[in-house]
Amino acid sequence: MTETYDFAAVETKWQRAWEDGRAFAAVEDPSKPKYYLLEMYPYPSGRIHMGHVRNYSIGDVIARQKIMAGYSVLHPIGWDALGMPAENAAIKHGTHPRTWTLDNVAHMRTQLKRMGISYDWDREVNTCLPEYYKWNQWIFLRMLEKGLAFRKESWVNWCSQCRTVLANEQVVGGGCWRCDTPVTQKKMEQWFLKITAYADELLAGHAQLSKWPEHVLQMQKNWIGRSTGAHVRFRLDGTDKSIEVFTTRLDTIYGATFLVVSAEHPVVPDLIAGPREKELGAWVDRTVAEMRKRRDIGETEKDGVDTGKKAFNPFTGEKVPVWIANYVLMDYGTGAIMGVPAHDGRDFEFARAYGIPIRTVIAPAGRAGERFDAEPAEVFEDLGVLVNSGPFSGLPADKAMEEMGRYAEERGLGRRSTIFRIRDWGISRQRYWGTPIPVVTCDRCGIVGVPDADLPVELPLDVKLTGEEGSPLERHEGFVHTTCPKCHGPARRETDTMDTFVDSSWYFFRYCSPREGSLPFRPEAAAAWLPVDLYIGGVEHAILHLIYSRFFTKVLRDFGLTPVSEPFPHYLAQGMVTKDGSAMSKSKGNIVDPDDILNKYGADTLRLFILFASPPDKEFAWSEDGLEGCYRFLLRVWTIVHENLDLFAGPAGGVDVPAAGGDAPARLVKKTHQTIRKVTEDIGVRFHLNTAVSSIMELYNMARKERDALYETPAGRSALRLALETIVRLLSPFAPHLAEELWERTGHRGLLMRSAWPVYDAGLAREEMATVVVQVNGKVRDRFEAVPDLPEADLEAAALALTKVQAALGGKPPRKVISVRNKLVNIVS
Ligand SMILES: [Zn+2]
Ligand SMILES: [Zn+2]
Repeated sequence: MTETYDFAAVETKWQRAWEDGRAFAAVEDPSKPKYYLLEMYPYPSGRIHMGHVRNYSIGDVIARQKIMAGYSVLHPIGWDALGMPAENAAIKHGTHPRTWTLDNVAHMRTQLKRMGISYDWDREVNTCLPEYYKWNQWIFLRMLEKGLAFRKESWVNWCSQCRTVLANEQVVGGGCWRCDTPVTQKKMEQWFLKITAYADELLAGHAQLSKWPEHVLQMQKNWIGRSTGAHVRFRLDGTDKSIEVFTTRLDTIYGATFLVVSAEHPVVPDLIAGPREKELGAWVDRTVAEMRKRRDIGETEKDGVDTGKKAFNPFTGEKVPVWIANYVLMDYGTGAIMGVPAHDGRDFEFARAYGIPIRTVIAPAGRAGERFDAEPAEVFEDLGVLVNSGPFSGLPADKAMEEMGRYAEERGLGRRSTIFRIRDWGISRQRYWGTPIPVVTCDRCGIVGVPDADLPVELPLDVKLTGEEGSPLERHEGFVHTTCPKCHGPARRETDTMDTFVDSSWYFFRYCSPREGSLPFRPEAAAAWLPVDLYIGGVEHAILHLIYSRFFTKVLRDFGLTPVSEPFPHYLAQGMVTKDGSAMSKSKGNIVDPDDILNKYGADTLRLFILFASPPDKEFAWSEDGLEGCYRFLLRVWTIVHENLDLFAGPAGGVDVPAAGGDAPARLVKKTHQTIRKVTEDIGVRFHLNTAVSSIMELYNMARKERDALYETPAGRSALRLALETIVRLLSPFAPHLAEELWERTGHRGLLMRSAWPVYDAGLAREEMATVVVQVNGKVRDRFEAVPDLPEADLEAAALALTKVQAALGGKPPRKVISVRNKLVNIVS
């Protein structure tokens, strides 16, 4: 190897050395602190894109720094390899989904290895292999036994193009998230996982997720949608039937002047019975059809009919009209609401449109003594004080809710309750490339789970993928026909496959013991590594993946497999990669292929650039100039080390540090220690990887500028050697190949990444103190020493605490304080 920076040769050499030395093998070692670093595993679409490069480069810096800092690190990777694209590609190109997927995995594995990411490749998992999805089936069967997996008929979102069911979150503006085809509704028997059983705990668990972005927690909170209130029953006049409503504002029930039920409500036939049955029936049919076509109620014009039927308000005994409307959904609450137009915006609008009476029952606090007989001109939704509410008048709203709830319970009118927006998770997919749901249907025994000994239920490889409607497995006779495990009579296999989000809900457990053969994972191994110390991935997974994983973890805990309740106490959502002002995408035609960059500049430059250009959680704008700049920086480091190789001729280590002082060597040594401190904290505490890089650059600049002068003295040469060696060591997590090569060329034996992370001397790293002058009304009263760049608020607090300043103020609070960082606090009394 010559002295030119031949990145291709350097990178290949060290990738081989790491692989041969199994440098990244995760070892359970109780004598060391553990660190489990996880990046969201990729879908093997065929090629790594820049979003992957960013995600994995961020993770790699942290993993490598932790290894050097003495942690036992688990940094695994795998493939989220089941799902629709493989099947669609198969239909289009005639390849088998398995071939397509495994080819893509092979190519992407090569790309990741070329990036020099510190993965423990011995722990690679691939969800499309039976050895993995067998455990999806095992977990499903345990859930089936516990009643957490169940089957029911339900309305589902259907994409006719993808020919499959979509989750509500996968319907965007009424269309399919993948192909934009308008989504229709279909009634189907589906398998569900009972995530609602964990709704309260999923919400309560947020208390342990203080290291998550606030907006992600808020999205989950909205999705879970917990409401507390009460269920109360309105008896239908002339029948013994009741309509139950859920309300979060029981305190307003004296103002309930109508009821509204969903067009899909089971009481509808009773409501429309009578002389207007035909007319009302037609309206209901039309509305139901319309609602099923388009579930985004927000966009629908409110429409309703008065059925002419009445129901009794259980608190007032008053008869109120019962309406059917299109804006009440059957699958939220009870499918019926009480209309309180004075205190609910939507009800107000509806009552105005249809001439329904509006009665004030809540007054703003302080106005409860006034009369509220006239219809109000606008809606009042705040909590106030009850008026026109019989014995409850005069109570504050929150107190009234409690008392009225108790009253309803005592008289059997209803009960206080909590409801959730979150629905059970429908996992049935009518596609081939997924995990077969391990049950059979037997005429005699009904639905029977496949015994554990018969797992995995393997996907047959000889299927015809034609793109016709229905599951391809349904047409595979050999797969469908089987025998019942209970009675050994003929039975049919379930042909639905699982939503691929099942695979990703527990893969992070599998990494702990990836070849475990008797359980999804070895509990002791999971106990050694879990929870994940840092999880990095795109914010598009804020709801589905991150909430399903939290749900699965709680279920696995309840199976006794893990003590952990929250798998990811720290989640870092990496920002988007953009170019020319928009996200890189095929449709925008602004994609930069990582392979091209790897060929032209090498992995170290690409990694350094992507980390240097912006903080991990912020958007990152691609720029060829920035990339070029990072390449030049690495070249400069390469050059300066080679130009000064003679400094390293002496024995390794034992650099004598010049004493503190103002001369060039002392300043460089100080800067070196400050840089170690900054980079260590930027990586390990603040995750400001970009500023870590810039401080390494600053250290380089100082060393380069003063090199000639430093060469004059032994202390100077010693300081220069320390600075250069430190630059190489600190660069190691960012540009690991170049750093290893320079480490070797400066006479070190053994892998740099196996050497210890540099440690700073706190005394040497300490900044010079700033002398801050304190003035009161323009007159200097005192001075104090402050650490550099102390924030204004702290400066002011320190100044105001000074005895001389207090004396000058004479015990009065200051009128105004103006401060200048590192210099001055000016107080006006
Ligand atoms: Zn679609
Ligand atoms: Zn049977």
